[in-house]
Amino acid sequence: MPELLTPTAHRQESGIDRSRWPERVNAVRLTEIFCSLQGEARSAGAVCTFIRLTGCPLRCQYCDTAYAFHGGEWTSLDAILARTRELAATHVCVTGGEPLAQPNAIPLIARLCDAGFEVSVETAGAIDIRPVDVRASRVVDIKTPGSGEAARNRWDNIDVLTPHDQLKFVICSRADYEWARQVVRELTVPSGCPIWFSPSHGQVDVRALAEWIVEDRLPVRFQLQLHKQLWGNEPGR
Ligand code: SF4
Repeated sequence: MPELLTPTAHRQESGIDRSRWPERVNAVRLTEIFCSLQGEARSAGAVCTFIRLTGCPLRCQYCDTAYAFHGGEWTSLDAILARTRELAATHVCVTGGEPLAQPNAIPLIARLCDAGFEVSVETAGAIDIRPVDVRASRVVDIKTPGSGEAARNRWDNIDVLTPHDQLKFVICSRADYEWARQVVRELTVPSGCPIWFSPSHGQVDVRALAEWIVEDRLPVRFQLQLHKQLWGNEPGR
Protein backbone atom coordinates (compact mmCIF):
# COMPACT_ATOMS: atom_id res chain seq x y z
CA MET A 1 0.00 0.00 0.00
CA PRO A 2 1.43 3.45 -0.84
CA GLU A 3 2.74 5.59 1.99
CA LEU A 4 0.11 8.00 3.30
CA LEU A 5 0.46 11.49 4.70
CA THR A 6 -1.70 12.52 7.62
CA PRO A 7 -4.47 15.10 7.03
CA THR A 8 -2.50 17.54 9.17
CA ALA A 9 0.55 17.12 6.96
CA HIS A 10 -1.59 17.74 3.90
CA ARG A 11 -3.06 20.87 5.41
CA GLN A 12 0.38 22.16 6.25
CA GLU A 13 1.28 21.86 2.57
CA SER A 14 -1.90 23.41 1.27
CA GLY A 15 -0.46 26.82 0.47
CA ILE A 16 -3.02 28.48 2.77
CA ASP A 17 -1.79 31.13 5.21
CA ARG A 18 -2.58 29.22 8.42
CA SER A 19 -1.48 32.07 10.67
CA ARG A 20 -4.70 33.93 9.89
CA TRP A 21 -7.08 31.04 10.58
CA PRO A 22 -7.74 31.89 14.24
CA GLU A 23 -9.10 35.31 13.25
CA ARG A 24 -11.07 33.79 10.38
CA VAL A 25 -13.13 31.37 12.40
CA ASN A 26 -16.19 31.55 10.19
CA ALA A 27 -14.48 32.04 6.84
CA VAL A 28 -12.72 30.19 4.05
CA ARG A 29 -10.26 31.29 1.44
CA LEU A 30 -12.39 31.48 -1.74
CA THR A 31 -11.11 31.53 -5.33
CA GLU A 32 -14.45 31.88 -7.08
CA ILE A 33 -18.18 31.23 -6.90
CA PHE A 34 -20.22 30.98 -10.07
CA CYS A 35 -23.13 29.23 -11.71
CA SER A 36 -22.63 26.91 -14.69
CA LEU A 37 -23.46 23.36 -15.82
CA GLN A 38 -22.06 20.47 -13.85
CA GLY A 39 -19.73 18.73 -16.30
CA GLU A 40 -19.26 15.36 -14.66
CA ALA A 41 -20.38 12.63 -12.30
CA ARG A 42 -23.94 11.94 -11.20
CA SER A 43 -25.35 15.42 -11.69
CA ALA A 44 -23.68 16.03 -15.08
CA GLY A 45 -25.73 18.42 -17.16
CA ALA A 46 -27.48 20.03 -14.18
CA VAL A 47 -27.32 23.74 -13.45
CA CYS A 48 -24.96 24.05 -10.51
CA THR A 49 -23.30 26.65 -8.32
CA PHE A 50 -19.57 26.00 -7.95
CA ILE A 51 -17.79 27.12 -4.78
CA ARG A 52 -14.08 26.86 -5.49
CA LEU A 53 -11.92 27.00 -2.37
CA THR A 54 -8.28 28.04 -2.55
CA GLY A 55 -5.27 25.78 -1.99
CA CYS A 56 -4.28 22.18 -2.73
CA PRO A 57 -1.55 20.00 -1.25
CA LEU A 58 -1.23 17.93 -4.45
CA ARG A 59 0.31 18.76 -7.81
CA CYS A 60 -1.27 16.41 -10.37
CA GLN A 61 0.49 16.78 -13.71
CA TYR A 62 -2.83 17.33 -15.55
CA CYS A 63 -4.27 19.87 -13.12
CA ASP A 64 -6.55 22.37 -14.84
CA THR A 65 -7.24 24.51 -11.77
CA ALA A 66 -3.73 25.56 -10.78
CA TYR A 67 -5.05 29.12 -10.57
CA ALA A 68 -6.75 28.00 -7.33
CA PHE A 69 -3.48 26.98 -5.64
CA HIS A 70 -2.85 30.49 -4.29
CA GLY A 71 -4.61 33.80 -3.84
CA GLY A 72 -8.34 33.92 -3.27
CA GLU A 73 -10.15 36.07 -0.70
CA TRP A 74 -11.13 35.33 2.90
CA THR A 75 -14.90 35.07 2.66
CA SER A 76 -17.34 34.44 5.48
CA LEU A 77 -19.54 31.36 5.42
CA ASP A 78 -22.54 33.70 5.73
CA ALA A 79 -21.49 35.55 2.57
CA ILE A 80 -21.04 32.29 0.66
CA LEU A 81 -24.46 31.05 1.77
CA ALA A 82 -26.03 34.35 0.74
CA ARG A 83 -24.37 34.32 -2.70
CA THR A 84 -25.31 30.67 -3.23
CA ARG A 85 -28.94 31.52 -2.50
CA GLU A 86 -28.77 34.45 -4.95
CA LEU A 87 -27.41 32.19 -7.68
CA ALA A 88 -30.48 29.99 -7.09
CA ALA A 89 -29.26 26.62 -8.43
CA THR A 90 -30.47 23.47 -6.70
CA HIS A 91 -27.11 21.74 -7.11
CA VAL A 92 -24.01 23.08 -5.37
CA CYS A 93 -20.51 21.71 -5.87
CA VAL A 94 -17.79 22.48 -3.33
CA THR A 95 -14.50 22.09 -5.17
CA GLY A 96 -10.97 23.45 -5.42
CA GLY A 97 -8.09 23.06 -5.34
CA GLU A 98 -8.69 20.62 -2.55
CA PRO A 99 -11.62 21.97 -0.52
CA LEU A 100 -10.96 19.70 2.46
CA ALA A 101 -7.54 21.30 2.98
CA GLN A 102 -9.43 24.10 4.74
CA PRO A 103 -11.03 23.05 8.05
CA ASN A 104 -13.94 25.45 7.59
CA ALA A 105 -14.99 23.55 4.47
CA ILE A 106 -16.63 21.11 6.90
CA PRO A 107 -19.10 23.58 8.48
CA LEU A 108 -19.61 25.22 5.08
CA ILE A 109 -20.75 21.90 3.57
CA ALA A 110 -23.02 21.21 6.55
CA ARG A 111 -24.63 24.64 6.26
CA LEU A 112 -25.24 24.16 2.53
CA CYS A 113 -26.93 20.83 3.30
CA ASP A 114 -28.98 22.47 6.07
CA ALA A 115 -30.11 25.08 3.53
CA GLY A 116 -31.55 22.32 1.35
CA PHE A 117 -29.09 22.34 -1.56
CA GLU A 118 -28.07 19.13 -3.35
CA VAL A 119 -24.41 19.27 -2.39
CA SER A 120 -21.46 17.45 -3.91
CA VAL A 121 -17.86 17.73 -2.75
CA GLU A 122 -14.98 17.08 -5.13
CA THR A 123 -11.96 15.83 -3.22
CA ALA A 124 -8.60 14.44 -4.30
CA GLY A 125 -8.90 11.50 -1.90
CA ALA A 126 -5.78 12.40 0.07
CA ILE A 127 -7.62 13.78 3.14
CA ASP A 128 -9.97 12.01 5.56
CA ILE A 129 -13.54 12.40 4.26
CA ARG A 130 -15.23 11.23 7.50
CA PRO A 131 -15.87 14.76 8.83
CA VAL A 132 -17.78 15.66 5.65
CA ASP A 133 -21.56 15.74 6.09
CA VAL A 134 -22.97 12.50 4.68
CA ARG A 135 -25.91 14.39 3.17
CA ALA A 136 -23.36 15.64 0.61
CA SER A 137 -22.20 13.34 -2.18
CA ARG A 138 -18.46 12.96 -1.74
CA VAL A 139 -16.81 12.58 -5.14
CA VAL A 140 -13.51 10.98 -4.20
CA ASP A 141 -10.60 10.76 -6.66
CA ILE A 142 -8.27 7.82 -6.73
CA LYS A 143 -5.06 9.19 -8.14
CA THR A 144 -3.46 6.98 -10.79
CA PRO A 145 0.30 6.66 -11.34
CA GLY A 146 -0.02 8.93 -14.38
CA SER A 147 -1.22 11.78 -12.16
CA GLY A 148 2.12 11.79 -10.34
CA GLU A 149 0.27 11.74 -7.01
CA ALA A 150 -0.75 8.08 -6.51
CA ALA A 151 1.26 7.88 -3.29
CA ARG A 152 -1.18 10.37 -1.73
CA ASN A 153 -4.24 8.11 -2.03
CA ARG A 154 -5.83 7.66 1.38
CA TRP A 155 -7.18 4.16 0.90
CA ASP A 156 -9.19 4.07 4.12
CA ASN A 157 -11.57 6.65 2.62
CA ILE A 158 -12.96 3.75 0.59
CA ASP A 159 -14.16 2.08 3.80
CA VAL A 160 -16.49 4.96 4.68
CA LEU A 161 -18.14 5.51 1.30
CA THR A 162 -21.92 5.33 1.14
CA PRO A 163 -24.16 4.64 -1.88
CA HIS A 164 -24.62 8.43 -2.05
CA ASP A 165 -20.88 8.93 -2.71
CA GLN A 166 -18.85 8.50 -5.92
CA LEU A 167 -15.36 7.40 -6.93
CA LYS A 168 -13.42 8.87 -9.82
CA PHE A 169 -10.29 7.87 -11.75
CA VAL A 170 -8.66 10.20 -14.30
CA ILE A 171 -6.90 7.93 -16.81
CA CYS A 172 -3.77 9.22 -18.57
CA SER A 173 -2.62 6.14 -20.56
CA ARG A 174 -3.12 2.43 -21.17
CA ALA A 175 -0.82 1.73 -18.22
CA ASP A 176 -3.02 3.91 -16.04
CA TYR A 177 -6.08 2.06 -17.28
CA GLU A 178 -4.58 -1.31 -16.38
CA TRP A 179 -3.64 -0.04 -12.91
CA ALA A 180 -7.13 1.36 -12.36
CA ARG A 181 -8.75 -1.82 -13.65
CA GLN A 182 -6.83 -3.83 -11.07
CA VAL A 183 -7.82 -1.43 -8.29
CA VAL A 184 -11.50 -1.64 -9.31
CA ARG A 185 -11.36 -5.43 -9.27
CA GLU A 186 -9.88 -5.45 -5.76
CA LEU A 187 -12.07 -2.71 -4.25
CA THR A 188 -15.30 -3.22 -2.40
CA VAL A 189 -17.55 -0.20 -2.75
CA PRO A 190 -21.16 0.08 -1.60
CA SER A 191 -23.76 -0.92 -4.15
CA GLY A 192 -24.98 2.23 -5.87
CA CYS A 193 -21.71 4.14 -5.47
CA PRO A 194 -20.64 4.77 -9.08
CA ILE A 195 -17.03 4.49 -10.23
CA TRP A 196 -16.25 7.02 -12.96
CA PHE A 197 -13.42 6.67 -15.49
CA SER A 198 -12.51 9.98 -17.17
CA PRO A 199 -9.84 10.40 -19.84
CA SER A 200 -7.19 12.95 -18.95
CA HIS A 201 -7.81 15.73 -21.46
CA GLY A 202 -5.51 15.32 -24.50
CA GLN A 203 -3.46 12.50 -22.92
CA VAL A 204 -5.34 9.34 -23.82
CA ASP A 205 -7.51 8.48 -26.80
CA VAL A 206 -11.07 8.79 -25.51
CA ARG A 207 -12.45 6.20 -27.89
CA ALA A 208 -9.75 3.73 -26.96
CA LEU A 209 -10.59 4.17 -23.28
CA ALA A 210 -14.26 3.56 -23.98
CA GLU A 211 -13.40 0.41 -25.95
CA TRP A 212 -11.11 -0.96 -23.22
CA ILE A 213 -13.92 -0.60 -20.69
CA VAL A 214 -16.39 -2.41 -22.95
CA GLU A 215 -13.89 -5.14 -23.82
CA ASP A 216 -13.21 -5.84 -20.14
CA ARG A 217 -16.89 -5.49 -19.13
CA LEU A 218 -15.54 -3.31 -16.35
CA PRO A 219 -18.20 -2.23 -13.79
CA VAL A 220 -17.39 1.46 -14.15
CA ARG A 221 -18.96 4.39 -15.95
CA PHE A 222 -17.14 6.25 -18.70
CA GLN A 223 -17.51 10.01 -18.73
CA LEU A 224 -16.27 12.97 -20.73
CA GLN A 225 -16.03 16.32 -19.00
CA LEU A 226 -18.98 18.18 -20.51
CA HIS A 227 -17.78 21.61 -19.39
CA LYS A 228 -14.46 21.16 -21.24
CA GLN A 229 -16.27 20.36 -24.47
CA LEU A 230 -18.42 23.46 -24.02
CA TRP A 231 -15.95 25.97 -22.64
CA GLY A 232 -12.45 24.47 -22.63
CA ASN A 233 -10.44 25.42 -19.56
CA GLU A 234 -11.98 28.85 -19.08
CA PRO A 235 -12.01 29.74 -15.35
CA GLY A 236 -15.43 30.47 -13.91
CA ARG A 237 -17.30 28.29 -16.48
S1 SF4 B 1 -5.93 17.39 -6.55
FE1 SF4 B 1 -7.15 18.49 -8.07
S2 SF4 B 1 -6.69 20.67 -7.69
FE2 SF4 B 1 -5.10 19.47 -6.65
S3 SF4 B 1 -3.42 19.33 -8.13
FE3 SF4 B 1 -4.69 17.48 -8.39
S4 SF4 B 1 -6.16 18.02 -10.02
FE4 SF4 B 1 -5.26 19.96 -9.25
